[in-house]
Amino acid sequence: MAAAGAIVPPLNQRPIKNTIVLFDVDDTLTPARLAVSPEMLQLLSELRQKVAIGYVGGSDLVKQQEQLGTKEVNVTTLFDFCFPENGLSAYRMGEKLSSSSFIEWIGEEKYKALVKWILHYIADLDIPIKRGTFIEFRNGMINVSPIGRNASTAERNAYNAYDIEHNIRPTMVEAIKAAFPDFGLTYSIGGQISFDVFPTGWDKRFCLKHVEAEKDRPDGVEYTTIHFFGDKAFEGGNDWEIYSDPRTIGHKVEGPEDTMAQIKELFF
Ligand SMILES: [Mg+2]
Repeated sequence: MAAAGAIVPPLNQRPIKNTIVLFDVDDTLTPARLAVSPEMLQLLSELRQKVAIGYVGGSDLVKQQEQLGTKEVNVTTLFDFCFPENGLSAYRMGEKLSSSSFIEWIGEEKYKALVKWILHYIADLDIPIKRGTFIEFRNGMINVSPIGRNASTAERNAYNAYDIEHNIRPTMVEAIKAAFPDFGLTYSIGGQISFDVFPTGWDKRFCLKHVEAEKDRPDGVEYTTIHFFGDKAFEGGNDWEIYSDPRTIGHKVEGPEDTMAQIKELFF
């Protein structure tokens, strides 16, 4: 970890000009949900001497601090740019940038209409059992569950089988889409009992707006080359949108070892 405190050149004086290298976290920089290796940190530190680096992850900064930082080392000192929650919150050279939220984006009136509709729909839904917490309000999205998020493991398993057989979630998603066609929302069915609802485009591409804003700073850098490394670079995977975006050069990796091999190949 000796390299963590090393002096880094200012962003506009990195030898590889107008270039930033962005990384997914899980299975790209670290094994899924686990901590980063010292070898990876060393390589990132050396890479940072040459070019701007950042990460973009779906979870929050606390989780990324656990995976990438240590008690002594703040994760925001290890990267030029940190993008927790896909960039809904953002840190640049250790300083927090403005953050975004679902409720600010959608506004109270539209949100109220959406919640009223969803709760009515669930109230009328005839499924074997219901529990509690049908809508979970999160910073960047809402999570909707027809059975309710308080269901036990056994109840979740039973619900999941019922959902697959009766298409409960896909049918509900289609009904919401039809009721609010102009809300600009994206729906993602994941896990056993729920689906996420979030603004279209609020996937990992969201962080690119912070990258693009760099050019407007005094002595700012226009990043004309944006590399992205990620493991879920297939349709339906959470790296797909940014990986396939025309603004980025996408690199698909098999895991942290492969990420290190590809970095060495490209930059050293
Ligand atoms: Mg990943």
